[in-house]
Amino acid sequence: MKTECYIVRDLLPSYIDRLCSEETSRYIERHIDTCEQCAEHLHQMREEFDVHEEPDIQARIEQKKPFQKVAHYIDVQKSFMTFLRRSLWISIIVTVGFLIHSLIMFIDLNDDRQEAQAIEEQKGSILEDTLEVLETQKEPDEAALQSVFQKYNGELQYLAVFSNDDVEDFSLLRDGKTEPYPIELPRLQKGPTTIYPINYAQAALVVGKNGKITESIIPNDYDIGTIAMANDQWIVQFEYQDSYLETIEKAHQTKYYGPSTWTVFQLPLVLFIVTAFIFGNWLIQKRNSKPVENILD
Ligand SMILES: [Zn+2]
Repeated sequence: MKTECYIVRDLLPSYIDRLCSEETSRYIERHIDTCEQCAEHLHQMREEFDVHEEPDIQARIEQKKPFQKVAHYIDVQKSFMTFLRRSLWISIIVTVGFLIHSLIMFIDLNDDRQEAQAIEEQKGSILEDTLEVLETQKEPDEAALQSVFQKYNGELQYLAVFSNDDVEDFSLLRDGKTEPYPIELPRLQKGPTTIYPINYAQAALVVGKNGKITESIIPNDYDIGTIAMANDQWIVQFEYQDSYLETIEKAHQTKYYGPSTWTVFQLPLVLFIVTAFIFGNWLIQKRNSKPVENILD
């Protein structure tokens, strides 16, 4: 080995680390080009250097691991946020959909309630009108009764008047047989009452659309189709026309079996609570993820 070789080899570590000046580097390179042994030595040193680098990289990866965990945590959190956001949107859309559905139902229900109310009021006015025209009369007057009937012509089948004096003996026609019928006069005096029809044969006067009816009448067996009311002197009973019974039935259903307002809005209310719950979670997640993201920035 020449003296030059010793000098070059002393300089090689600095050369590999690029710490030499340009002049020195050029001097080393020129020597390497001409000296096979030193070239080989440099090659070996470089290989060793690479091997030494390995643990360094490993150490750096180890160092980064905590950050990778945080990054992974943020990834998970981000996908959870996405999930929450999507759930929130779906929940809002479903809630609004059911709310609209319930509102339409509620409007329909309100219409039905008003119609039922109107029918109830009409029952009262038919009976009150009749009792009013009877007030001044000793015997029920056909023309007066007919005028009331005409007023509700589209709805009534029969309008009948019974004298209170006969109340003990009232009977009804059931399956073609006459049965004693306990009339609760005080109940009828309170207002319009749905009753099982009093036998028309006992009426002081019955009118239909063509005036006074004298032939025997088989009452309608529909249990909410006949209404009666009484004052101190008379009992008035009317029967709805068959074509009007469907309306009566619907009003009856609405009044006694119709859904409550609470029932109509139950589902949207539950959905609203679910939406609010998801929104709350989303808000909390959003607030929690902010500081972690800030640290990484
Ligand atoms: Zn050499």
